Amino acid sequence: MKSQPTPKLRAAVAGLPAYIAGRKADSALVEPLAANESHYLPLPSVLSALAAGAVKVNRYPDMASVTLRTRLAEEFELDLDEIAVGPGSVGVLSQLISAICDPGDEVIFAWRSFEAYPILCQIAGAVAVKVPLTADERHDLGAIAAAVSKKTKVVLLCSPNNPTGTSISIAELTQFLDKIPPRVLVVVDEAYREFAPDLGGDTLALYRKYPNLCLLRTFSKAYGLAALRVGYAIAGPEIAEGLRRTQVPFSVSALAEGAAVAAIAASDDMTNRAAQVIAERDRMIAAARELGWTVPDSTANFFWLRLDDSHREQLVTAFDAADILVRGYAGDGVRITIGTQQANDRVLSVLAAQRELTN
Ligand SMILES: *Cc1c(COP(=O)(O)O)cnc(C)c1O
Repeated sequence: MKSQPTPKLRAAVAGLPAYIAGRKADSALVEPLAANESHYLPLPSVLSALAAGAVKVNRYPDMASVTLRTRLAEEFELDLDEIAVGPGSVGVLSQLISAICDPGDEVIFAWRSFEAYPILCQIAGAVAVKVPLTADERHDLGAIAAAVSKKTKVVLLCSPNNPTGTSISIAELTQFLDKIPPRVLVVVDEAYREFAPDLGGDTLALYRKYPNLCLLRTFSKAYGLAALRVGYAIAGPEIAEGLRRTQVPFSVSALAEGAAVAAIAASDDMTNRAAQVIAERDRMIAAARELGWTVPDSTANFFWLRLDDSHREQLVTAFDAADILVRGYAGDGVRITIGTQQANDRVLSVLAAQRELTN
């Protein structure tokens, strides 16, 4: 019998990297330091909100997430229509690219940066334009501005940058925005902003001045709600409306919305926790440098070691043997999340034992 053609994936999807699940922290002895999660347990007020929401899961959530958007609008003195939410800020970014890019349109971002960026571009048929980081692991804003073409629709800046931890200062961002045509949307992915309180100003003030600026934020990192999937964008009303239209309906659950509202009410607790992470981060970086490792200053809840592939493999294997999960990047290096003080001390003993890899 002649074989019949079978259903096929779009070429763009067939070409995406297959998802490879990392090792799970399958016992309490394993330290999960590979995903930049918060190691703090949810606050009692967040747990109460989740319990209150749990008895209502037979009902759909509010599709427009008005309670959370209203709360955010009050917090930042914005209009409700300048805020769009989604299932994590990765979800919001996916909405953004499908709202703005036709196939062939260009999205510029630094590289190495967040691994979701090229994937979201490819799914949408947008062309990812990758601009290499500088030697000191920072965004090369001059080269990014120079890469803007007629086809550029979005410039995506990750500040603090995942995985290198470096940030763009407010002064640098202002200078950059002055060089970018107003028709290009400049998106700042601020997933780690709570760990970078000293950038010399406020991106929100810049947003008020530059209508082509969009800020992406999440409850997954400093707020510790990664499992609930909720993030948001601050953008001009027209863009924000586009983001709401491209959202998968009901993709922010009532549980996530309720927990996010409770988390905002407890933002002092979040700030205290972030301050402890910052103190531990700075202690870790100083200690690693003392051991001979080259570590860029970090403004996030992780730090970065640039390593060639053989050193990277050796270091990740050593961490694995010590039951510490870290994140290795082929061709680039290793990212290590800040955990509890005890976990961090375990990290330092591995870095001490592996000092021969430092040069
Ligand atoms: C973790 C992270 C996010 C947030 O992802 P969520 O979808 O909100 O969980 C966004 N951007 C970067 C660079 C990140 O590292």
